[in-house]
Amino acid sequence: MNELADFCSKLKKDFVPRIQDPKKPVRFWSEKDLLNGKVVDAFVIIFRTRGCTWSLKSGCTMCGYFNDSLWSKVTEEDLLKQFETAMQKYNGEKLVKIFNSGSFLDDSEVKPHVRLEILSRLAKKADKISVESRPEYVTDDRLSDVKDAIQSKTFEVGVGLETANDFVREHAVNKGFTFADYKNAADILKKNDSQLKTYVLIKPPFLTEKESIEDSIETVDKIKDITDIISLNPTNVQRKTLVEYLWRRKQYRPAWLWSVVEILKEGKRIVGNKRIKCDISGGGGFRGAHNCRKCDRKILDAISSFSLNQEVNVFDDLECECYDEWLDQLDIESIGFGSLTGIYG
Ligand code: SF4
Ligand SMILES: [Zn+2]
Repeated sequence: MNELADFCSKLKKDFVPRIQDPKKPVRFWSEKDLLNGKVVDAFVIIFRTRGCTWSLKSGCTMCGYFNDSLWSKVTEEDLLKQFETAMQKYNGEKLVKIFNSGSFLDDSEVKPHVRLEILSRLAKKADKISVESRPEYVTDDRLSDVKDAIQSKTFEVGVGLETANDFVREHAVNKGFTFADYKNAADILKKNDSQLKTYVLIKPPFLTEKESIEDSIETVDKIKDITDIISLNPTNVQRKTLVEYLWRRKQYRPAWLWSVVEILKEGKRIVGNKRIKCDISGGGGFRGAHNCRKCDRKILDAISSFSLNQEVNVFDDLECECYDEWLDQLDIESIGFGSLTGIYG
């Protein structure tokens, strides 16, 4: 294990999982999303599983999903019970998004027959089902079983590439896979007539604001012909992570919303008709992407609107006095070794 992986692992050493009911999902709700170019209701389920296999070994530097996981065995019956609970609120939404704070295609998190039961039930009404997975679990065998279960319905896998830069992914994110691994998963998905959504991380630790803007834009450019959808996600500071460790010491500031806007505008110019979206967890708070607080709400609203409608002109009239401070930060941060947090935290 390298030092970064070792450090991430030690941060979780004293972690005691909260006592949670393995028969209840973390959350489920309905929200708006895009399906085939139209705004539709989407049903979202977050399953509570044992936890991501990579997170149990060491984990990514920004990921606190393990805080929602049980870290102990979740039986097949428990998972199916979670599914039944969520299904009581399912109203036949055509798009269903499944999250499990790990990899839905990892057999040690979700047993194959449970996975296939869930998918085949959903495919009776849904037109598209979206899950998440690390690339190592994207295999021909699993996808072939999935396609048998959902027949002609669309299957999408979200992969957290975070950055196309192998050095940044290894040394700032501790992701544990390479761009070539991601590319291989993309090829397998394509071969099996499935879609790929790629998550790109805005502002990993150790990068300056400016480096992070450049890294995200370069990533969008490198993956534009590989992925079907790009989802840009600014880091938010989650408990017991390396990012939180740095943030508490004023050595990390979550991304400015001005940076996010810049990346989305340039990203959209690069990808053309392909969809690019951005989900901001904790946006406007000190732990999430934020500006000066006065302008946060209107910028977050513009970003949500862009994610749904893909129109960059929603960013045209945004202005605030903190814009100049953001520009100053981009100019001078390199001499502060990325640790400038500024008056807006
Ligand atoms: S970001 Fe994904 S791969 Fe990394 S530890 Fe979290 S769940 Fe696992
Ligand atoms: Zn402002």
